[in-house]
Amino acid sequence: MSESRAATILWLRQDLRLSDHPALNAALNRGGPVIPVFLYAPQEEGDWTAGSASRWWLHQSLDCLQDSLRLLGSRLNIRRGSSLEQLRQLVRQSGAKAVFWSRRYEPQAVKRDSRIKSALREEGIEARSFNGSLLFEPLRIKNSQGNPFQVFTPFWKHCRNLGSPQPLPPPRDLPPPVKWPNSLQLQDLQLEPEFDWAPGLRRAWNPGCKGAEQQLKRFLEESLDSYPDDRDRPGLRGVSRLSPYLHFGEISPRQVWQAVQEREGSLGRLPSDSDGRLRMSSAAEAYLRQLFWREFAFHLLFHFPRTPERPLREKFEKFPWTSDPDGLKAWQKGRTGYPMVDAGMRELWATGWMHNRTRMITASFLVKHLLIHWIEGARWFWDTLVDADLANNTLGWQWTAGCGADAAPYFRIFNPVAQGRRYDPEGAYVRRWVPEIARLPDKYLHQPWEAPAGVLEAAGVKLGTTYPTPIVDHAQARQRALDALKETK
Ligand SMILES: Cc1cc2nc3c(=O)[nH]c(=O)nc-3n(C[C@H](O)[C@H](O)[C@H](O)COP(=O)(O)OP(=O)(O)OC[C@H]3O[C@@H](n4cnc5c(N)ncnc54)[C@H](O)[C@@H]3O)c2cc1C
Repeated sequence: MSESRAATILWLRQDLRLSDHPALNAALNRGGPVIPVFLYAPQEEGDWTAGSASRWWLHQSLDCLQDSLRLLGSRLNIRRGSSLEQLRQLVRQSGAKAVFWSRRYEPQAVKRDSRIKSALREEGIEARSFNGSLLFEPLRIKNSQGNPFQVFTPFWKHCRNLGSPQPLPPPRDLPPPVKWPNSLQLQDLQLEPEFDWAPGLRRAWNPGCKGAEQQLKRFLEESLDSYPDDRDRPGLRGVSRLSPYLHFGEISPRQVWQAVQEREGSLGRLPSDSDGRLRMSSAAEAYLRQLFWREFAFHLLFHFPRTPERPLREKFEKFPWTSDPDGLKAWQKGRTGYPMVDAGMRELWATGWMHNRTRMITASFLVKHLLIHWIEGARWFWDTLVDADLANNTLGWQWTAGCGADAAPYFRIFNPVAQGRRYDPEGAYVRRWVPEIARLPDKYLHQPWEAPAGVLEAAGVKLGTTYPTPIVDHAQARQRALDALKETK
C-alpha cells in the first residue's frame, strides 16, 4: 500500500454525525480509505465518566451512526480500553498512517488527547485534531487585554461580529479499507441499563442525526418566532430541546445557525447590509444568544479547568455548605413540597431533561434553600440528564450558586412560589409533573399549604400524605442563606 493511499483512522467521540465534520472532510481530502472508530474509555474521563442517562443516549446515537455509515458502504469500528493502545493496534492492523479527530475541551480530555497526539506523531503517524463542535474555539477568542472573557455580554458582542461559520457538506461516500479491523459489537459496551428504567426516555426522545434534524425543523417552524416570549415557560413547547443532540455532536452549532439564517432569509428577514453583517429578527437573535451561552461555557471550562470541582470565585471556597441527606433525597425525588421544584425534578427523572427555567429554580433551591453544595446537584444532574455536559453543567451550577463567571448574585434568592406563578401561570407544567395536586385551583397550585381545608379536600389533596408539606420555610431558608453568605466576606 503506497503511503498516500494508506488509511486514515477517524476517531469519533462527541461528534457522532457525518455532515459538517471537518475531521472527516480532512480524512477524505487526504485520500485513501477511512476507518471510523469509537473507543469507549470511561476510565480516561476522570471524575466525570458518562452518567446513566448519557450512556443510554450514547448507545442509541452510536446505533444511528452505524446505520448512516452502512448507507455509505462504511462501518463503525468499536473498541474499549486505553485509547492510545487501541489506536496503536488499529494503526498496526490497518496500516493507517493518520489519525484525525474533533477536539474536546474538558480538562481530562485535553490532557489525554495531547498525550496521544505527541505519542502518535513520535511514531510517525499524522495525528491532527479539528474544531467539530463550536462556532468559535476558546483559544481564538480573547478580550481587549488578551485574556479570556469572564462576563457573557462582552463575550457575546465580540463573537457576534466575527461572522457566521459555514457548515461543510455531507460526504457522498466513505472509501472502506480492503479488510476491516476486528471490532466489538455495540452491545458489548453495555451502555444500556440492565434493568430497563428508560421507557420515559424512549418516549421523550429520538436520538441520532435524523432526530436532531426533525427537532430543529419543528422548532424553526413552530417555536422560533415566539422564542423570546415562550423560552421561559416550561409548560409550553417554547425551546428547541437540541441540547443532547448538540452535546453528542449529532448536529453542529454551525448547522443550527445556518438553518436559522436560511429560515430568516426565506422570510426576507436578512436584508443585505453595507457592513456585511446580518440583520436578523429579535427571535433569531435571542436564540443565537443562547447558543453563545454554550460557547461561553466551553470558553470558561477550557480557560479555567478547575471549575467542575472548584468555584471560579475563590472566596466561595469558604462558603459554609451543610450536609442534609434527607433534604438531598427529597430534592432528587421531587418531594420538597414546592410544586415548581418538584415538577422540574420529576421531569428530569422521567425524561432525562429539564427546562432551563426549572433547572435554575431547582438548582437555586438546592444551594440556597437547603444550603447543599452545588457539586452534589451537579453530580445528580450529571447522572440523570441526557444532555449532561461538563461545560454547560458547570456554568449552570456555578451561575446559580453565585460562585461562577457572570453569576447571579448569591443574595438574589429565587422564591419558588413566585417563580411558579410567573413562569407557569396556568399551571400546565406543575399539573403535568405533579398530578397529585392537579385538581387544585390555580390560586393555590404553587403553594398548596395556603389552601383552605375544604379546597384541599375537594382537590383530593392530603398535605403530608398525598403530597409533602414544604421541607423548609422560604423566609427562614432565605435568611439562613443570606447569613451563610456573610461568612464568605
Ligand atoms: C443548573 C444548570 C445545569 C445545566 N446543565 C446543563 C447540561 O448539563 N447540559 C446542557 O446542555 N445544558 C445545561 N444547562 C443549560 C440549559 O439549561 C440547557 O442547555 C437548555 O435547557 C437546553 O434546552 P434547549 O436545547 O431547549 O435550549 P434552547 O433554549 O433551545 O437553546 C439552544 C441551545 O443553546 C444552548 N444553551 C441554552 N441555554 C444555555 C445555558 N444557560 N447555558 C449553556 N448553554 C445553553 C444549549 O446548547 C441549547 O441546546 C444547565 C443549566 C443550569 C441552570
